[in-house]
Amino acid sequence: MGAESEPIRAEGVSKIFPSVIGFRILVLLGGALASACVGRSNPPVSATPLTAANSPIATAETAVSEPEVPTDSRTVRELLRLAELARRAGNREAEYAHFSQVIEHDSSHSRAHARLAEITGRAPTYRIASSDDLVLRALQHPYDPKALVDAAEALAERGSTDRAVEYFERAVWLADLDPSAALTAIRRLYVLSDEWKRHRIVPVQLHVDELIRAQPGWQFQMRTLWLSVSVMLDSALETRFVPIAILPFEAGDIPNDLDSIHEAILAEMRLPAEGIFAAITGRPVPSGDAVYKKGVAEFLGRSLAVRIAPGANRSRVLAHEILHLYGAIHVLDDVDTLMNPTGVSLALDAPNIRIIRSLRGREFGPGGIEENVVSWIDLGVTVAAYRSALSVNLNLRDSKIKEAMRARDTTPAQVAFGVQQARHLDTHFADAARLVAALMLADGQRAEAFRLLDLSSQLYGPSTPRGRVSAEKAKMLKRSMEATTAPVTE
Ligand SMILES: [Zn+2]
Repeated sequence: MGAESEPIRAEGVSKIFPSVIGFRILVLLGGALASACVGRSNPPVSATPLTAANSPIATAETAVSEPEVPTDSRTVRELLRLAELARRAGNREAEYAHFSQVIEHDSSHSRAHARLAEITGRAPTYRIASSDDLVLRALQHPYDPKALVDAAEALAERGSTDRAVEYFERAVWLADLDPSAALTAIRRLYVLSDEWKRHRIVPVQLHVDELIRAQPGWQFQMRTLWLSVSVMLDSALETRFVPIAILPFEAGDIPNDLDSIHEAILAEMRLPAEGIFAAITGRPVPSGDAVYKKGVAEFLGRSLAVRIAPGANRSRVLAHEILHLYGAIHVLDDVDTLMNPTGVSLALDAPNIRIIRSLRGREFGPGGIEENVVSWIDLGVTVAAYRSALSVNLNLRDSKIKEAMRARDTTPAQVAFGVQQARHLDTHFADAARLVAALMLADGQRAEAFRLLDLSSQLYGPSTPRGRVSAEKAKMLKRSMEATTAPVTE
């Protein structure tokens, strides 16, 4: 399917967040608590988790083999052992030093970040005037967003823009700890960094279940998860997803299918004023014959639910569901793309790239598609993107049906199965057809709108409630078209 899938460009990744939220700060810091050495003489660290080389989408090949749940190397295991010995001996400085070294080896190590955050704590809030002291305070409390922002301001003032950007980015990574400091950081990043100017910020309200929360360092896991998915989708979306609230929920009593979990959380919690609403569960897919989903998302809406393995800090399923919020639709099972729900590919097919680029300016506020999508997009560009995607998809489906019928040495049952697979009702696909019909209607293209409404009814299944609504709308449209084109008789 060469022409069909175009890998997302990964080169941009390292350029876009060059210092990757200042993971480097911590590494530069490496042992600063003990030595108080805060100079830039240390070489930049190669251990940022999201450089192009080890980003989830570096290339489809390397990406696929990249585990979503990282495993500790031997060195890291040894450092963790030493840190544990230091903790038992009550030697916080040694413990700090060992955990800092863990971060040097694996800059997204959630447990090490969590323990370092505990050891360093929040910064004292007394006023400091000297810019050196402001920077020193941030280095001593590198998980305090306010201290980071104050230090970044001091650095920016004396012309150290790159370092200021690193500190501000780190404050954004820690946004849930101090959303107002993170907001200041974002405003300043838009002024100081050309890379940030191109980016949109989408806040995320996270609801995390008890299985994820049982893992040490789970908040850092969540922060890194959303950063890694932002980087993964960056070349298509140019958007940074920022968790600004990480809240608990109990999944124990809810049936273990994602639709139930998604609906239960939505019913129980309030949608944020702005941003994505995401439920994250650590419950695995139940074993057995039934097909259980790993993720669900409201097509062009703003809520989703995903299963994340404990400890995982990257997720193909999360990327897939986010793309549904931007209008992406499924493709057939044998196309290598993120939008193939059963595949492993991290590339993105050309028709979906076109769709999400046309929709990436959407908003995530109160209201529905009208308020959050239609008012913010170029109608013509979006309609064209969907039309070509729908036609590619239909052609593919069509040829699959023909293929299934033509195949020689297959039993009728196999043929039936093949045809059913190709026709596999995809509700997102139906949603897309209905959306484009509405856009075309707004644009005065009534004949096309009629055909798409009819198609969406077929795709939903003519006997389903939504299928019937689409069929009814199509019928009304047809009647009104006939009424206006009928010759006038007196
Ligand atoms: Zn999907």
